[in-house]
Amino acid sequence: MLRFDNRLVRELPGDADTRNHPRQVTGAAWSPVAPTPVVAPQLIAWSREMANTLDLGERELTSPEWLAALSGNGVLPGMATYATCYGGHQFGSWARQLGDGRAIFLGEAVNRAGQRFELQLKGAGPTPYSRRADGRAVLRSSIREFLCSEAMHHLGVPTTRALALLTTGEAVVRDMFYDGNPVAEPGAIVCRVAPSFTRFGHFELPASRGDEALLRQMIQFTIDRDFPEILGDPGERLVQWFGEVCERTARLVVHWMRVGFVHGVMNTDNMSILGLTIDYGPYGWVDNFDPAWTPNTTDAQGRRYCFARQPQIARWNLERLAEALGRVAPDTEALKAGLERFNETYSQEFQRSFAAKFGFAAWHEDDAPLVEEAFDLLHRAEIDMTLFFRRLADVDPRSPDITALAEAFYDANKQADYLPTLEAWLQRWAGRVTSDGEPDNTRRKRMNTVNPVYVLRNYLAQQAIDRAEQGDPSMIHELLEVVRRPYDEQPGAESFAQKRPDWARHKPGCSMLSCSS
Ligand code: AMP
Ligand code: MG
Repeated sequence: MLRFDNRLVRELPGDADTRNHPRQVTGAAWSPVAPTPVVAPQLIAWSREMANTLDLGERELTSPEWLAALSGNGVLPGMATYATCYGGHQFGSWARQLGDGRAIFLGEAVNRAGQRFELQLKGAGPTPYSRRADGRAVLRSSIREFLCSEAMHHLGVPTTRALALLTTGEAVVRDMFYDGNPVAEPGAIVCRVAPSFTRFGHFELPASRGDEALLRQMIQFTIDRDFPEILGDPGERLVQWFGEVCERTARLVVHWMRVGFVHGVMNTDNMSILGLTIDYGPYGWVDNFDPAWTPNTTDAQGRRYCFARQPQIARWNLERLAEALGRVAPDTEALKAGLERFNETYSQEFQRSFAAKFGFAAWHEDDAPLVEEAFDLLHRAEIDMTLFFRRLADVDPRSPDITALAEAFYDANKQADYLPTLEAWLQRWAGRVTSDGEPDNTRRKRMNTVNPVYVLRNYLAQQAIDRAEQGDPSMIHELLEVVRRPYDEQPGAESFAQKRPDWARHKPGCSMLSCSS
């Protein structure tokens, strides 16, 4: 039996109002709320690895008791159900109170190894933070969160996890294109898991309200529970902790750039204090390398959250967090040092990561032009990012030619146009890797540990969704299996490693995604 030890509700002030109605919640970090039961829950997928981490075997996880807990139809002994209160900057503007509008905690589980995990049901009904929305989630967005959070984990990218995906047997009405055509879609719930779901917005909201007592409590609780290695007096701890958040955020964004992931909604309420990828909404994977690409249709005009802007936005978000913490920090200058740590870590990690991707033994100061030219070429010649890096390992530096890279092109004309430029670049690349004096195999192996074969391409997830909506969840299972070993060529899984087919270029769900979920 999984043990629960619910520190958050024990140590942070809760809302005295126990009714479930939308409201502003002040002076409290959380509100008690029970999930709303559903008519016909069905477990359609679950993560073996996450279940193992929680010491849950298949028998236990698929038992009627767990099925009830995962669908919001019951709770297990020791669980506590609540929603937390936070705010956020959305698309650059302060959005005031947001909160867990459709996420309900099941409490904090402690596994046999003593590791602590918060469990949350996403889509289990309204909470005091739901405003006018229904607290539910549709199957398509739940499949996307379930699969992608597990895929990211296996890619080595810090992320919240998914334990289980359930359909509810109930319909959820959504106007996917915001064009006045609401449609009834199948409802679903994801049970997601992380050591902490705390966001930047958890600190911004009490700061914006001038509630310094609650802000101090939030800070102390977060450091005590989630950063126990940070010691010292409260002022020192705050500064050290903020520096650590900056560093983790920098590492996270480097990972996103490395694998070609675009979060799509980097609002401060979607930024994890642990530096995890959190809140999988209209995210997407870069197919043809395009720095300005955004999967989010709501962001198509401003492109605030496009691929190349992610580092800059992460820094902007950290500045908003620093402002909030500055209300109670004895030394606001020291917080600026934390922001510097973001820039330093970002450039260090970026260099380390991209040196590995390009096959350099280490980053040299004069590697920047070669790398920049590759980005420019990938962009202008419309080359698939994942295929390019994976295939680059197979180019022979003694006689570099584009044979290995040919299938990474999307457009035959552009391929022909850019052939001479690419060949010239490959010559220089060959010279660069040869100068390391490493055996080819050593280099190739290292490249293959950072350049995945399989990412959760947008069109693949959409195919799994289309089939699941027709009642066949098998492709969810197939994809989950493939993304478990993203760096290994898997015989029989070749179709999951291919570039986006033409039909998917402009298809909703494949190239553009709605926030409606
Ligand atoms: P997101 O854009 O998904 O990060 O959500 C922003 C805010 O809207 C968060 O406070 C969510 O909890 C809330 N929210 C989004 N969708 C729903 C929904 N269907 N029901 C209730 N709250 C929602
Ligand atoms: Mg969110």
